[in-house]
Amino acid sequence: MTVLSEPLQFSSDDTASGGVGHVTLVGAGPGDPDLLTVKAANALRNATLVLYDNLVSKAVLELVPASADRVYVGKVSGHHSLPQEGIIELMVRLAKGGRRLLRLKGGDPYVFGRGGEEAQGLVAAGIPFDVIPGISAAQGAAAASGIPLTHRDHAEALVLATGHLRGEADARTVDLDWVQLARPRQTVVIYMGVATLPVISTQLQAHGLAGDTPAAIIERATLPGQRTIVGTLATLPEIARTHDVRAPALIMIGTVVSLHAELGEPASAVIGCG
Ligand code: SAH
Repeated sequence: MTVLSEPLQFSSDDTASGGVGHVTLVGAGPGDPDLLTVKAANALRNATLVLYDNLVSKAVLELVPASADRVYVGKVSGHHSLPQEGIIELMVRLAKGGRRLLRLKGGDPYVFGRGGEEAQGLVAAGIPFDVIPGISAAQGAAAASGIPLTHRDHAEALVLATGHLRGEADARTVDLDWVQLARPRQTVVIYMGVATLPVISTQLQAHGLAGDTPAAIIERATLPGQRTIVGTLATLPEIARTHDVRAPALIMIGTVVSLHAELGEPASAVIGCG
């Protein structure tokens, strides 16, 4: 593995003679390597240079040939080892040097993965690229925890939202359309929301969503040690704290969560009060 504080030295070289290279944005799925698309798995097996994030599981990375260069561009203990602009610059520089590279991202590149920004950077620099989709964490978590994302008796709409804090210093807040998220008959899935779950719970209740609405956290979905923690909109923050839930985890809110009791994994793997 190459970490970006070290100078980049590559063992492989597929530099096309004088031509510009190519970037493939690849969705690595939620973790279980069997959930890669066939196209993504083939691209990984043929890779010579891979830039990957912290959410890409070890099992997925193992598909990359030992001879390929791997560059870690994810977070190191809360800090980005390379800011987003730096990742784009690096991809552009490598591709301009003729390299063909895989940009491997957890889940789907176009769902909260900043894949859109990276694609824009590539377009701006005139680098040819393509995108291989991945199973997003919401889909992986739904299947693995027995919580359908939509269901005729429960939800006709699915909203994917980010619980990430935005803004400067003291004014950092979760800036979401709470009125929209508090609507009935929909499922709300929140990415990156573990730290802000108390705010999310309070705001949704303040905007009219009942405190007894079923809600769950799925931690490490599809990965070894996956946990599904079930409660209600009101109780989930406390339950998550008690069980020391850590990222990566997804929050699911809506009456579809009640289906977990019927469709979910055996009770021994489940924590919480359904
Ligand atoms: N592009 C990714 C999302 C990147 S944002 C996708 O499509 O899934 C990162 C967030 O995704 C994490 O904070 C977490 O909320 C969620 N996530 C990613 N992998 C996960 C997993 N295996 N289990 C639960 N949540 C996951």
